Amino acid sequence: MTGETRNQLLICLEPTVSARFGSRLRQVALEQGRVLQRQGEVFEHVWFPQGALIALVSALPAGETVQTSIIGWDGALGVFEACGSRQSAFLAEVQVAGDAVCMAAEDYRQMFEASPALREQVHRYTEILLTEARQHVACNAVHSVEARLCRSLVEALERSADGRTLPMTQEALANALGVQRTTVTAAMMALQSSGAVRTGRGQIEILNPDRLEQGACCCRETLQIARRDIYRASEPVCES
Ligand SMILES: [Zn+2]
Repeated sequence: MTGETRNQLLICLEPTVSARFGSRLRQVALEQGRVLQRQGEVFEHVWFPQGALIALVSALPAGETVQTSIIGWDGALGVFEACGSRQSAFLAEVQVAGDAVCMAAEDYRQMFEASPALREQVHRYTEILLTEARQHVACNAVHSVEARLCRSLVEALERSADGRTLPMTQEALANALGVQRTTVTAAMMALQSSGAVRTGRGQIEILNPDRLEQGACCCRETLQIARRDIYRASEPVCES
């Protein structure tokens, strides 16, 4: 099944590893809101999104929650932790419904050991996540909510199944941006007035992606270049 996968980490498995572990990979349709991993619990499974988007959420002692990362087809959930502490420091919840491939954490550890290409990809992915985290700190400090909203929508669109509709609530967007729901509502109304989006029934329809790209902060382009450079450096390993 890995021959048909969209997931960037699974695509690079060597044929022998793919054949050995393919039967242990299970395709799952993930519905919005499903919790895949709770904070503090041991990873029982590792998840490789195909079309789904998985939000990582950190809870603060006073009860506030903040989305710290989003995982799509270019990443995976649990690929470092399952080989390290094995515990989760965050809650992982499906933000946008879609398919994913999952595997028991124990099987994944064997696959990780058996595949130099997978280890290389996971190392590159770690580098990308660290780069994203640093960039997002700078972005949150400097760029406007409107520009960050446009960037978030464009990035979600790039990872979406149909490239047009995002089944995301404004509450989820507010959590992703770390702002009040009313702030997101005002920014979305402005985007709707400009003809860029249409909102309703828990989903956002993108009518004019160019308008969103124009409104997005420069962090999107910065991260695109960083991802391209990091993956380009790993291309010789990814031959399968
Ligand atoms: Zn930014």
